[in-house]
Amino acid sequence: MKLFTAVLATETNTFSPICIDRRGFEASLYAKPGEHPATPTLCSAPLTVGRRVCAEKGWSLVEGTAAWADPAGLVNRQAYESLRDEILEQLRAALPVDGVVLGLHGAMVADGYQDPEGDLLARIRDMVGPDVLVCAELDPHSHLTEKRVAAADFFVVFKEFPHTDFVDRAEDLWRIAVDTLEGRVKPTMSVFDCRMIDVFPTSREPMRSFVDKLHSIEANDNDVLSLSVIHGFMAGDVPEMGTKMIVVTNSKAEKGDRLARSLGLELFANRGRHMMKQLSVDEAVTRAMAAADGPTVIADMWDNPGGGTAGDATVLLSEFIDRGCVGVAFGTIWDPIAVQICMAAGEGAEISLRFGAKSAPGTGSPVDGRVTIVKLVRNAEMRFGESYAPFGDAAHICLNGIDIILNSVRAQSFDPSLFSVMGIDPAQRKILVIKSTNHFQASFSKIASQILYCSAGTPYPNSPADTLYRYAREDIWPMMKKPHG
Ligand SMILES: [Zn+2]
Repeated sequence: MKLFTAVLATETNTFSPICIDRRGFEASLYAKPGEHPATPTLCSAPLTVGRRVCAEKGWSLVEGTAAWADPAGLVNRQAYESLRDEILEQLRAALPVDGVVLGLHGAMVADGYQDPEGDLLARIRDMVGPDVLVCAELDPHSHLTEKRVAAADFFVVFKEFPHTDFVDRAEDLWRIAVDTLEGRVKPTMSVFDCRMIDVFPTSREPMRSFVDKLHSIEANDNDVLSLSVIHGFMAGDVPEMGTKMIVVTNSKAEKGDRLARSLGLELFANRGRHMMKQLSVDEAVTRAMAAADGPTVIADMWDNPGGGTAGDATVLLSEFIDRGCVGVAFGTIWDPIAVQICMAAGEGAEISLRFGAKSAPGTGSPVDGRVTIVKLVRNAEMRFGESYAPFGDAAHICLNGIDIILNSVRAQSFDPSLFSVMGIDPAQRKILVIKSTNHFQASFSKIASQILYCSAGTPYPNSPADTLYRYAREDIWPMMKKPHG
C-alpha cells in the first residue's frame, strides 16, 4: 500500500482585521515533505500518526507539505493557491496511491475562495479518481460544505472543546482508513444539517453528556464507525456556516441518516443552553473587586486571538482604570508598536504611552498615560501543555497601579506562566484579566479562586442574530426562530 498525507490548515475569522499571507503560515508551522517534527500541532496529527501506522503496516507513506497558520483574518489568495498547488504537485508525483489522508482545519477563507478545503478536496478527487480513499481530520469550528462531503469518503472531527483529543481522533481516522484499505469496512457518510449555530464547550453540560454518548454509541454499535459534530464557526461569513452532525457507518446509509438526524435534533433541542454564563463588564469588575480571596480570573472571552481577533481590546482595562482599582494584572494587550517604543525606552523608564485598541471597532479606545516600564522580554513564551506558545517581544508596564503586559505576537492566554515570565506572580494578584474563550480554563483553574467569563465590547461577532453577515445563510437558528418548522 502507498498513501499520501499533507496538512493545510487555519481558522479564518472573516471579521478580523489581521489578514495573512504565506508568512502567517511560516511563522506558525511550515514543514516541507519529511521535515515535520515528531510531535503534532493541532491539525497535523494525521501526519505524525500516519508515520507510525504505516511503519507498523510496512506501507509506504508519502509526506507532502504541512502548513498551519494561527487563527486570523482573510488568507491572501496567492498564499492559498501556492500552498494548494504545492500539495497537489506532490500528490501528482506520488501517483498512483491507495489513499489520501489529510489534516485540515476546515474554516479557512481565502481571497476569492469561500471554501478552500472544498476546492482542495475536489481537485484531489479529480486527480486520484473515484476509487481511491480520501479522508481528513477536521476541527469542529469549521464549515462542512456539500463540496467537501461529495469529494471525501469520510471525515473525523475533534470531539472535545478545548481540543484535547486531536491525536485520538487522528488515530480514529487512520484506524478507519486501514480497515477500509484492508477490505473490512466500507465507510458511508451521513450528514444532518442542524440548521443552527452555537458555541459548544464540552467542559460543561449539556455538551459533556452528549460527547460521552457519542463515545458510547461508537463503542457499542458495530455499524457505526465514527460520530462527529461540526460545531460551526460563527466568525466565518460563508454560505454554508452552521452546525452539522456527521455519522460514518459501515455501508448503512439509511441507518446513518436516521442516527444523524436524531442526534442532530438533540443538539438543536439544547440550542442556547451550551454556552457558559457571560457577565457584562460592570458585573465582572464588581464581582471581582468584591471577592475576598484572589486571584479572580476574568476571561475577556471574545477578544481571543485563538479565534482570530487582534487581542488588543481595552474595554475591561478602561473600566478598572476608571474605578481606580489596584492589584490587577492584564495579560495581554497586543500592540507591537507600543512594545517597540518600550524597548527603545528601556526597563525602569517612565514614559507617556498610547497603547491598545488600534485594530478594529468595538475594542474600546487606545489608552494614554504615564507608564513605568517594569520588565522587557525578547521572544517571550508561555507554557502550553507540554510545549511553549510564543507571544513575541513583550513589555510589562505599570499604569496607575495596574500591571499590563503588552505583546507583539498575537497569542491566546493559555497559561499563568505568561505572567511569571514577565515578572508578575499570578497567585499574588487579586485579579488577573486574560484573553481566551475557554482554552485557558484547564491551567488557570488550578490557581483561580473564581473564574468569570466576561463579554466586553464587540471584538468578535459573538451574537449571530445581530451580526451583519453578507454570505451566511439566515434560515438557521438564532437568525430564524423555527428553522425545522
Ligand atoms: Zn476549534
